[in-house]
Amino acid sequence: MQPPAELRSDLVLVGGGHTHALALRMLAMRPLTGLRITLVSPASHTPYSGMLPGLVAGHYTFEETHIDLARLCQWAGVRFIEAEVTALDPAARRLALAGRPDIAYDLVSIDIGSGPEMDSVPGAREHAVPVKPVAGLWQRWRNLHQRVLERSGEEAYRIAVVGGGAGGVELSLAMAHRLADRPVGFDLWCGGAQILQGYNPRARAAVQAALERHGVAVHTASRVARVEPGCLQLEDGTRHPFAELFWCTGAAAAPWIAASGLSTDDGGFLAVRDTLQSPDDDRVFGAGDIAVQLDHPRPKAGVFAVRQAPALAQNLRARLLGRPLREHRPQRRFLSLVSLGDRRATADKGPFSLTGAWVWRWKDRIDRQFMAQFRALPARMAREGGDEVMARAGAPGPTTAAAGQMPCGGCGAKVGADALAAALDRLSRDFPEHCAGPGAGDDAVPIPAGRSGALLQSIDLLRELVADPWVMGRIAANHALSDLYACGARPLSALAAVVLPFASPGLLQRELEQLLAGALHEFAAVECRLAGGHSMQGGELAIGFVINGQPMRPDGRLLPKRGLAPGDRLLLTKPLGTGTLFAAHMQQRADGRAIRAAIDMMLVSNSSAAELALTFNAGAATDVTGFGLLGHLLEMLGADRGARLDLARLPLLEGALAGMSAGTLSTMHAANTLAERALQRGDAVDEGRLQMLFDPQTSGGLLIGVAADRAVELQRALVQAGYGAAAIIGEVTRYDPMNGAARVRCQ
Ligand SMILES: Cc1cc2nc3c(=O)[nH]c(=O)nc-3n(C[C@H](O)[C@H](O)[C@H](O)COP(=O)(O)OP(=O)(O)OC[C@H]3O[C@@H](n4cnc5c(N)ncnc54)[C@H](O)[C@@H]3O)c2cc1C
Repeated sequence: MQPPAELRSDLVLVGGGHTHALALRMLAMRPLTGLRITLVSPASHTPYSGMLPGLVAGHYTFEETHIDLARLCQWAGVRFIEAEVTALDPAARRLALAGRPDIAYDLVSIDIGSGPEMDSVPGAREHAVPVKPVAGLWQRWRNLHQRVLERSGEEAYRIAVVGGGAGGVELSLAMAHRLADRPVGFDLWCGGAQILQGYNPRARAAVQAALERHGVAVHTASRVARVEPGCLQLEDGTRHPFAELFWCTGAAAAPWIAASGLSTDDGGFLAVRDTLQSPDDDRVFGAGDIAVQLDHPRPKAGVFAVRQAPALAQNLRARLLGRPLREHRPQRRFLSLVSLGDRRATADKGPFSLTGAWVWRWKDRIDRQFMAQFRALPARMAREGGDEVMARAGAPGPTTAAAGQMPCGGCGAKVGADALAAALDRLSRDFPEHCAGPGAGDDAVPIPAGRSGALLQSIDLLRELVADPWVMGRIAANHALSDLYACGARPLSALAAVVLPFASPGLLQRELEQLLAGALHEFAAVECRLAGGHSMQGGELAIGFVINGQPMRPDGRLLPKRGLAPGDRLLLTKPLGTGTLFAAHMQQRADGRAIRAAIDMMLVSNSSAAELALTFNAGAATDVTGFGLLGHLLEMLGADRGARLDLARLPLLEGALAGMSAGTLSTMHAANTLAERALQRGDAVDEGRLQMLFDPQTSGGLLIGVAADRAVELQRALVQAGYGAAAIIGEVTRYDPMNGAARVRCQ
């Protein structure tokens, strides 16, 4: 029997830019044993620059022009962390992330692109829309487009674009094409003597003609000196009004690159050698706009980022395997295809230029081929038997098991004392009130004394649902806390049970730290102390908590699971659909945005909902988890109660109904459908919505039964408290098992 592979090295890819998306795909096709790859990027979708103008012009949809990084990572077996990196500490080999704990790496690669330079012009940052990040541009453009469509007057409306490079020109033409039949004027402001510096005169003339045809007024040698609300001022003092201003000037680098202390060029872009490594630290790689190849600098263009991908993938592999790296020589000349708004394009390469509809079709074909690589993902090569990474990316470091030896079971599978102590040491400094430090505990821990009344205890355990360990820790903590909330109890302390995939002590420590930091984030928010726990190594990750608590009510009364009266209304506090959505995610069929929304839902604590249920004197409550809504409802109803459910009112997560209707089911779904015996379906019920009753939920909402005259008010209070999807989904009925009717009727 093959021993399971031990993880030994962390490769972190920062930014889901063109180079990383491609390199990740290449790395996944030839996986390295013992390597854990993490991609950190602020959103699940990253734009493909070549098709951006076409998106604005209305030729393409959002999905056609964006790579779904969450889906790509799921396919590649790569951890996706949806976050923004804010600092790099090369000495400590750590990355700071906005709003969450920092992460460690053994090897890091940076491909975060660039943004337009805005800080040299006063007022630009406050009053202009930067062309990047594209998510912001897209939202503003959509709002603007809608506003223009809704305008009734014929009064002129001026849209200004600052920047006479290819980006500014293409954006102006795309917007002008989209709003061609509206009374909108366009101004393109260009600081240089001519637009498209570096392009040949024929290409420039063709683009000029297109700008004229689209009614875009081009102002060359017109440098913007300041921006005020609705007005820009040029260096010559003249002032020009605008209704919306887009900023598309030369590229600027994120300031944290230079702040890392690594060498940069004068613009703050990361300096790299031809191996794409920093000259100061060969564990740091850089590619795309953010990096400048010292010996072969090139303009900031997606085409260079794309061409760097094979070299980056190959060199990351080589560095991890201790093999020689190759040098990447970017091409000197490149083909630039400028789209002209109306499904025409101009090609420019050296002294050659061509213009026409066929050039656009040619560009369209190239762009669609590029994107097809991320849509139709091929089968990956087997993980076993591939090259094995060296411990900690080349640095000698201990591993937990001798090569080829099956890992031990029983207590031999415990996480090593050093890794555990180091993780707890760090966490107890970050959460002094809520985390017991290393060695603080005895063989057993006392449960903190709360107020009088019964002590309650519950346990819940989850397998890995999301690959981001900090988020997984948060979900597991929330999920476990819900059991207490459903009883109307407040948590006091928790014990963790964690199984970590086999890894070297260093990686075990990192993983444990992230998981528990996520859990502590939730526990600290509700004053629950993580008193101790147990951690093991095993084939796959699992995390759960025993939670102790006390009744929320001073008189010790709990919120029972049963005891509903006929006529009571049933309220559900959170939307359903995690089962089908994560089943689709595992099959790479879910949209990354839907997964993000589902995660956000799972991170909503049920604590306030429980408090509100008590305030409104609810008759009973339970939390909706693995057995699905119907399974948990049946538990609530007991022997002599039934229910009527209104399927149309079930709150559902975005994308869940589509997944369910397509037959994408959680593996638990079939077992949950046994409850269908208790169900009577009305005429013409929506089958997808009906199946939602069996969908298992992780960290789902509370199902609350409350008297009819308080139901609407409770629902309003829940919505105000942040449970935006809270809905009254049905009512409790009398049930007589002898009359043969079904216990739950749905319509
Ligand atoms: C309108 C327009 C049209 C263009 N058309 C073309 C064209 O046709 N051809 C061409 O070659 N070039 C074109 N460009 C230029 C092109 O956009 C860039 O050169 C290219 O996107 C650079 O790719 P990249 O891999 O460096 O990074 P990008 O593709 O910009 O991706 C960077 C990624 O990093 C993420 N990120 C950013 N900051 C952080 C952070 N702090 N932490 C983690 N992740 C982060 C971003 O969200 C993004 O996913 C165009 C630019 C514009 C504005």
